Amino acid sequence: MSLERLDAFMARANAAYYATHDPFADFTTAPEISQVFGEILGLWAAVGWQLLGSPEPVLLVEAGPGRGTLMADALRAITKVAPAFRAALRLHLIETSPRLRAEQARRLPDACWHDALDSVPSGPMLLLANEFLDALPIRQFIRHADGWAERFAGPQGMVDCPTAEGPADWGWDPALADAAPGVVLELCEPACAFAAALARRFAQHRGAALLLDYGSEHSTPGDSLQALADGRPADPFSPPGSADLTAHVDFAALARAARRFGADAQGPVPQGPFLARLGLFQRTNRLARGLPPGRAAELMEAARRLAEPDRMGRLFKVLAIASANCPILPGFEA
Ligand code: SAH
Repeated sequence: MSLERLDAFMARANAAYYATHDPFADFTTAPEISQVFGEILGLWAAVGWQLLGSPEPVLLVEAGPGRGTLMADALRAITKVAPAFRAALRLHLIETSPRLRAEQARRLPDACWHDALDSVPSGPMLLLANEFLDALPIRQFIRHADGWAERFAGPQGMVDCPTAEGPADWGWDPALADAAPGVVLELCEPACAFAAALARRFAQHRGAALLLDYGSEHSTPGDSLQALADGRPADPFSPPGSADLTAHVDFAALARAARRFGADAQGPVPQGPFLARLGLFQRTNRLARGLPPGRAAELMEAARRLAEPDRMGRLFKVLAIASANCPILPGFEA
């Protein structure tokens, strides 16, 4: 019987899924809900650039750009409001899916593409990533009566294999070593490596990154692996490529990984108040005034969907990672 560690399985499943599906047929994301989302994140980057001393040139990077909507909206706002930033920026996109790269190229013809952060040139940087980290592969550990086990994917579904490791090895509180049977801990090694790599870059060159995703402020035990196929919940262990697999992002773990390499972490804060501080509702109102009533109402409803606590406003969090001693970035004011 061949077993595959959960993270290897998840990586293979998502690569197959993104290569063969239009993920946006299965789920929608904030930039697809309202154009104002990308616009205000573009202005966040413009202000971030000024707070970092307006370095020229500067890399503007997006990780996991999807259809390219967020960046197209961001650039439109930047061009209008911050032309000096527009002139200084060089656009780089981190994307593995050939289908999505083709779609991004139609909207963002002057970008450079990369499979991972490693090949993005060094230099001052602003980075945006929305719903990128939740797609990265996780490991899962479960407490059994006689010790910890790690989860593997097998032909019949999930299999737990005993391990000599424990919570401290996975970055969790060592006090969880004797957790009650059934407790599940998760570890997203590529997400922590991504945060650490940003921090190392920001120690060399000024930079700031904005990471938006659903997940928790504090590391919380629990199984958050979920699968979506044709817009509906599916079995995560269905054949690779048939479902999109995601897990909640552990923002506390990301902040720890960044601080270990000398960077500042600001937040995480819930998405609702963050977007409101960035002017989501003011900008939406202004835009709505010029629209026919039906379209204006849609735009207002979209803003509420992004910000209301029982919708996307609380489950989604925003974390900034920045060079040490970076001033407080927009949206993170106490
Ligand atoms: N940010 C977009 C898309 C989110 S979907 C939005 O908000 O609409 C996740 C995106 O990350 C897709 O573009 C997907 O192809 C990309 N992606 C997933 N795993 C990746 C990986 N390991 N490396 C690079 N890109 C990845």
